[in-house]
Amino acid sequence: MKRERILIVGGGASGVILAAHLLRDANPRLDVTIVERRPAIGAGVAYGTDEPDHLLNTRAASMSAFPDDPDHFFRWLGTSRHAESLDCADPFCFVPRRVYRDYLNAVAAPFAGPEGDGRLHVVAGECVALREHPGGIAVELGDGRTEIAGTVVLATGHTVPSFRAGTHRSGPWCSPAELGIGPAESVVIVGTGLSMIDNVVQLRRAGHRGTITAVSRRGLLPHVHAPSTPLRLDPADIPFGTGVSFLLRWLRETARWAEGRGGDWRDLVDALRPHAQTLWQSMAPDARRRFLRHARTFWEVHRHRMAPEAEKAVREAIADGQLRILAGRVLDIGEADGHGVVRLRRRDGEKQELVADHVIDCTGILRDPASGDTPLVGRLLQQGSARLDPLGLGLDVDRDCAVIHADGTPSRRLFALGPVTRAQFWEITAIPDIRVQSAGLARRLAERATA
Ligand SMILES: Cc1cc2nc3c(=O)[nH]c(=O)nc-3n(C[C@H](O)[C@H](O)[C@H](O)COP(=O)(O)OP(=O)(O)OC[C@H]3O[C@@H](n4cnc5c(N)ncnc54)[C@H](O)[C@@H]3O)c2cc1C
Repeated sequence: MKRERILIVGGGASGVILAAHLLRDANPRLDVTIVERRPAIGAGVAYGTDEPDHLLNTRAASMSAFPDDPDHFFRWLGTSRHAESLDCADPFCFVPRRVYRDYLNAVAAPFAGPEGDGRLHVVAGECVALREHPGGIAVELGDGRTEIAGTVVLATGHTVPSFRAGTHRSGPWCSPAELGIGPAESVVIVGTGLSMIDNVVQLRRAGHRGTITAVSRRGLLPHVHAPSTPLRLDPADIPFGTGVSFLLRWLRETARWAEGRGGDWRDLVDALRPHAQTLWQSMAPDARRRFLRHARTFWEVHRHRMAPEAEKAVREAIADGQLRILAGRVLDIGEADGHGVVRLRRRDGEKQELVADHVIDCTGILRDPASGDTPLVGRLLQQGSARLDPLGLGLDVDRDCAVIHADGTPSRRLFALGPVTRAQFWEITAIPDIRVQSAGLARRLAERATA
């Protein structure tokens, strides 16, 4: 029997969830390999943290790896070694992200590792180049090894900028030890989203008492989660394909209507979630551009919400004067006289310079996908195996996740999954979206293997 070898580049949440979807139906024709450059799979950018205060920002009820078994994660929690120590009596709880890393490893365990059936292979190393040949794809690793596969899926995740050691500037996901910030030292955080919140909570837990100034263009903080009862939205009610102004007006009016019925804007945002990708795809290129410029931040602070525990810590930090939030456009981040310096233009037009012992750059996620710390994406672009979308959000992929070559043809062998496909799907960073995308891609790849 001919077996189809599917190689997934990246063993973060997307790679592991796809592998589980490919293998759980016991299709004997599939042979799956994950190439991961970190020491272990299941961590990625989001779940590599060991900080107990770095919580999931999604309730346990929504974190199953399998859309057709939505309680899978909550059931696993109840039987896991974390069951005793976690205060998670109902699925509305928010657990530490490191627990989710264990869950992802449990999801992969039936297929890999000592107790697995051996159908999932994990190769440690960095994929630095891919070359498509008529018979398959050669996957080149940084140490000179080459793996051959019939199909390759890029699950390389977020573009993470690299930071020079020994400077006053660090990235968003460092531990307190890596940050090396003294208890009384001052900190400026660039960005006021969920990563800023993580850093504030982490610093306070580590006993930091120095001032923290967080700055972003609008100075908006993510909203907090609260129980919601999603509205029943018929697709016919949603203004697909309209302009951004009309869409925003509709959102405001519908949220007011929900509030008038004793509900909340969350009921609308949560109801829209399953339609968010279709909404994005229905927008003309210019509407997408306008959305990114004028509406993205508002959508994100309502959509990507923080856990109640994190909100409490941030509220306390503001109340006791440790944390202040500024609105302004950051012009540059540099260093002078042994300090980090952030220059910004405030919303009133005035320039301001923030000088601190340490600068934490929490703006890292939406960068040019070719600018990250792996050469792979840049090389794919250079050789014409891939291209960026016109807005520079991510790799250009079609609706079946096939990577589009520079000449506009979709690849038959190279696919992409998760945040790298943001340009086509937009809302594709969180698990509830990634698991649906993984299920669909796994189904298509399995069908191809049996065709
Ligand atoms: C801080 C943070 C918190 C989050 N919290 C939540 C949450 O609570 N709930 C939720 O639903 N979503 C959350 N998310 C969304 C999160 O993005 C996804 O859940 C998930 O992490 C995306 O997984 P990924 O595997 O696509 O990307 P990543 O997590 O970025 O993993 C990509 C993996 O690919 C590897 N890799 C990259 N390039 C190569 C290469 N060339 N060769 C080999 N390996 C490579 C990397 O080492 C990495 O392990 C969070 C995101 C972040 C950043």
